[in-house]
Amino acid sequence: MQHFIDVIIPVPLQKLFTYSITAAESNFLKVGMRVSVPFGKSKIYTGIVYKIHSEAPEVYEAKDIHQILDDTPIINEQQLRLWQWIASYYMCTLGDVMRAALPSAFILESETIISKNTQKKIDESILKDDEFLVFDALQFQSSLKIHDISNILGIKNALPIIKRLIEKEVILVEEEVYEKYKPKLVRYVRLHNSYTSEVDLHQLLDDLSRAPKQHKVIMTLFSLSASTKKPIKVADLTKASEASSSIIKALIDKGILEEYYIQTDRVEYEGDGNNEYTKRLNEYQDAALTEIKEAFKTQSVVLLHGVTSSGKTEVYVKLIEEALSRDEQVLYLLPEIALTTQLITRLQNYFGEQVSVFHSKYSTHERAEVWNNVLNNSHKAQVVLGARSSIFLPFNNLGLIIVDEEHEQSFKQFDPAPRYHARDTAIVLAHLYQAKTLLGSATPSLESYFNAKQHKYGLVEITKRYNNVLMPDMELVDIKDKHKRKKMKGHFSDRLIEEMTDALSEGFQVILFQNRRGFSPIVECNTCGHSPQCPNCDVSLTYHRYKNQLRCHYCGYVMAMQDNCMACGSPEIDSKGFGTEQIETEVKNLFPDYKVARMDLDTTRGKYGYEKIISALEQQEIDILVGTQMLTKGLDFRNVKLVGVMNADNMLNFPDFRAHERSFQLILQVAGRAGRTDQRGKVLIQSYNPHHNILQQVSTNDYLSMYNEQMDERYNFKYPPIYKQIKITLKHKDYLNVENASIWYAKSLRNAFGDYVLGPESPPVARIRNQFHKNILVKIPKKQSLAKTKEAITKINNSFLSIKDFRSVKVVLNVDNF
Ligand code: ADP
Ligand code: ZN
Ligand code: ZN
Repeated sequence: MQHFIDVIIPVPLQKLFTYSITAAESNFLKVGMRVSVPFGKSKIYTGIVYKIHSEAPEVYEAKDIHQILDDTPIINEQQLRLWQWIASYYMCTLGDVMRAALPSAFILESETIISKNTQKKIDESILKDDEFLVFDALQFQSSLKIHDISNILGIKNALPIIKRLIEKEVILVEEEVYEKYKPKLVRYVRLHNSYTSEVDLHQLLDDLSRAPKQHKVIMTLFSLSASTKKPIKVADLTKASEASSSIIKALIDKGILEEYYIQTDRVEYEGDGNNEYTKRLNEYQDAALTEIKEAFKTQSVVLLHGVTSSGKTEVYVKLIEEALSRDEQVLYLLPEIALTTQLITRLQNYFGEQVSVFHSKYSTHERAEVWNNVLNNSHKAQVVLGARSSIFLPFNNLGLIIVDEEHEQSFKQFDPAPRYHARDTAIVLAHLYQAKTLLGSATPSLESYFNAKQHKYGLVEITKRYNNVLMPDMELVDIKDKHKRKKMKGHFSDRLIEEMTDALSEGFQVILFQNRRGFSPIVECNTCGHSPQCPNCDVSLTYHRYKNQLRCHYCGYVMAMQDNCMACGSPEIDSKGFGTEQIETEVKNLFPDYKVARMDLDTTRGKYGYEKIISALEQQEIDILVGTQMLTKGLDFRNVKLVGVMNADNMLNFPDFRAHERSFQLILQVAGRAGRTDQRGKVLIQSYNPHHNILQQVSTNDYLSMYNEQMDERYNFKYPPIYKQIKITLKHKDYLNVENASIWYAKSLRNAFGDYVLGPESPPVARIRNQFHKNILVKIPKKQSLAKTKEAITKINNSFLSIKDFRSVKVVLNVDNF
């Protein structure tokens, strides 16, 4: 009998590839193990074994695998089923899912390595000039990569020369697959064991009395050991003894200190192992907890709708505690940006080192470690706190998933495929493990609330803030009127200035919120009206005052700010629109005696950028914080009394069917940062249109009115959650080509779905990175089979791809687009 495996490789192929294996390999291999396989002419990929069988492929001859890379599977059966679900629901390939799912440390790199054939005496006269160059280079370097050889020869394709050299037995080729993941080793020191006796020790200290710095290092080592009773890191010793690394090295060289290494996990818990008791719930939280547990008896998903600061997190904590006591793993999902040290510390205080964090800002090594801990069901990974991609972790015994801030749009991956929604995928994941899912939010998405109303999910509410803290007092300020009556200073109304003055003089802090979207400052010439455009995209460049640069937010293009108009040469250039930078400047002028900081994409780069600003606010080193969306996420600041929303209108007017829902969520979430203690908070919302229904609903905290009104609109205009939708985007550098292609595509879709197809349309930014875009939308009524719809779209897509003229057009399918 012959043996074969089907392998997933991390490239977007519609079908899995089949490879031939030996009987012994077939006995050893298990589904979920990695193998390295040849693909195409010369490529090697890491693949995942998907199926082991004995059916030879029909249309090609199966190649042999190169190597088996694991002793045991690195992903389990449930994970593979989840991958399959994602590929089919979100219309992408298993290869796409594999790329997203595995930490890149697990996707091995292949490099072709050439070395000299040392077994053979070479007669140099048989070598041509170019061959000699390679041979000569190998006298100095034991091995070369194909890429190096191309460089040495100054040609692109070195393969024919390499081939000749192999035939002449001058060189050997080895394909070397190596693992990128290396565990982190930490350097420790201890006193050499020849100094363990009291006598030797005294002698040593005497000897060192003439080397005071070295003496100090040894004394510090003693006191550190005594106080921590743990191994001493070189880094800690250097710091505590204020010694340079050369002093420590000298002690090691003399044989007084001994260095050694311990492999550590990068994501470390530094606590002392004495966990705090979880908090005692108040009556509302307690009632919610009971209701949730009751609902879980009949339902696998429950939505917890609890106002900001109602203590939802403490309710989650109780559920986590119970899951842990049943030896179940817990996944706590959060939007990337809400994954703050505040929350991590809070959970670590309760659950100690059982908490692991899985975050895209961590290195691939750190992620590989968490992966392995989860895979081995290690004590360290019983509670995984993670962003979107943590749904891919290889859980063993998952019992509970919490999706906090479930309304957050960032749970949906936008690019590249798989374009999955982590909340929805989490529910499927939980299902595979027969685990429960709790969705939590102060402002649930219409989707989830709708599902709850339809009794697909359980619904539990908490309407009171913890400790009877009042909801903040909301005030709408009509800035059209203020402008007319000259009561504005820059972007600040007199009301906002008054409230800021009061709050600050009482020693409270202030947060000012400016929506990121659509508020990029652009520059414009006062003489001819020209504003500098991105050469690659159809957008104006954004002005960044701090670096005096113009930048494109779509492709990253940068140029220096110009002194004169590039069109007419006039020096009168003005900046229009206002971003956080401009507000920051205005605040500094209005309140010169207070410390102002800004939190946006620019100021929070790097692993701890965000954390630094948050802790500065906590430590009250900042009086006024100006920020974007980032401010809204689950932060708990004791001393913030006033929140100002600089301008509510541009959120409301954004051309998107979710704009109203989102504005409601955003404003209520920022408002939730105000007055989280006994002092009642205040929220001021500036708008040109304060009578807008959404603003009225926000100011009365009336979720239900918002929900009902928005659902009417969704119903009337056939939008989610009433209708499902799939967005198809076509891209090409040639406008005419993408136009023709999109017309063809839309026409074929209309043949199948009639009026439920909209477009093709050019999006507001029609060209990005030199590619023109066209969108087509397919709306899917509830009664129409989703699977059949996708099947039909796939068929159309395949015919499309087979048309020669359209072959270079890129097609993006986005299911449940956001
Ligand atoms: P939410 O997640 O609903 O916004 P949190 O869980 O962050 O609310 O709770 C708000 C604040 O109230 C936090 O500082 C939290 O520590 C405190 N808190 C909530 N529940 C309790 C409780 N049962 N006992 C003591 N403090 C609590
Ligand atoms: Zn001009
Ligand atoms: Zn651009």
